[in-house]
Amino acid sequence: MGLDPVAVREDFPIFQRVIDGHRLVYLDSAATSHKPNVVLEAEADFYRMHNANAHRAIYTLGEEATELFEGARATLALFLGAPSPATIVSTRGTTESINLVAHGWGRKFLKPGDQVLLTEMEHHSNIVPWQLAAAATGAELRYIPLTDDGHLDLTDIEQLLTERTKVLAVTGMSNVLGSMPPLRLLIDAAHAVGAVVLVDGAQLVPHHAVDVAALDCDFLTFSGHKMLGPTASGGLYGKDELLASMDPFLGGGEMIMEVTREGSTYKEPPFRFEAGTMNIAQQIGLAAAVRYLEAIGMDAIREHEVALTRYAIEGLQEMGARIIGPTDTAARGGEVSFSYRDIHPHDLATSLSEDGIAVRAGHHCAQLVMRRFDVPATTRASLYLYNTTDDVDALLDGLEKAGAFFGD
Ligand code: PMP
Repeated sequence: MGLDPVAVREDFPIFQRVIDGHRLVYLDSAATSHKPNVVLEAEADFYRMHNANAHRAIYTLGEEATELFEGARATLALFLGAPSPATIVSTRGTTESINLVAHGWGRKFLKPGDQVLLTEMEHHSNIVPWQLAAAATGAELRYIPLTDDGHLDLTDIEQLLTERTKVLAVTGMSNVLGSMPPLRLLIDAAHAVGAVVLVDGAQLVPHHAVDVAALDCDFLTFSGHKMLGPTASGGLYGKDELLASMDPFLGGGEMIMEVTREGSTYKEPPFRFEAGTMNIAQQIGLAAAVRYLEAIGMDAIREHEVALTRYAIEGLQEMGARIIGPTDTAARGGEVSFSYRDIHPHDLATSLSEDGIAVRAGHHCAQLVMRRFDVPATTRASLYLYNTTDDVDALLDGLEKAGAFFGD
């Protein structure tokens, strides 16, 4: 049986909210997702019953905290098809994970003349850390361009991906366009020239089954708050040997073997990358989110979102909206960016908000995409497992209302 979004909504207390007399129509899960009761309970239960610092205390609560925190790591490893929990570093999310790699791997191994290959659809968090690493090492940045329908344009990939390329950092799903680059093909091509590949999974992991072993990516990043987990939860998957070769990112307590006046030696991964008191409660909440997603099934979630995305795109097109991104749902997710008449996205979002409809308006931390499609901003409706066709209908009604108000 397919996923029933109406039943799913029952698990999320926020959908009981009434906003200015309207039910909440939440179409901004690409920014952050809502949290089911099981996640709220898991986090609260940790604080209520087991609260202590992990990896430090020998008393009972400390051991329980360590067990729960390490159990969350194991849950994440299984969810992502990672070969062992040691390949999962706990972080506050994708931004921190990419900075960790750009710092710990990039600054250590990049040299003048090396190239970092990015794409024009990357979120700023998969651009700026590489710009910083390039500035520090003398490496250069290159970008894979986009086609008019919002996919990667791979026409000149052989000129872009060469033996000078040391790392390819690419999103698994664009937060603006929804497009899903052909990861396996890109990873194989990058490996053929000796480059390592980082996949920004911030949007992919919440919406699509991911198996890092089958993908053969070198790094994968993810943000717990976009996949029903708490804010400041998330992580980095990295291949054993790569993590082992990297410098620490943050220095501090618990990531060291020995500290002397002159210097320090570091623990093995993943602990080398986990300095200071960690996001213990958040990772425990994230593990509960993963169990919830698994119980529903990632394939069922994907199927639901493909059908709903198709419904949304068709409805928007019928109203004359311009979709910015692919309109074919085969290789895209439920992040639907559009412009409608000449109404500024901020005006549109404000007008929709009056009816309890939450969409995002702006550049979505992807200014290269805005420039490519020659728009200052877009309105984005993003879908998740708890969205229904009623939510999409409310959006379309809201657009009609805004169209009548703003006119043209
Ligand atoms: N990459 C992509 C594709 C994203 O959508 C986001 C969040 N909008 C990020 C990276 C950054 O994630 P976070 O803010 O959770 O670190």
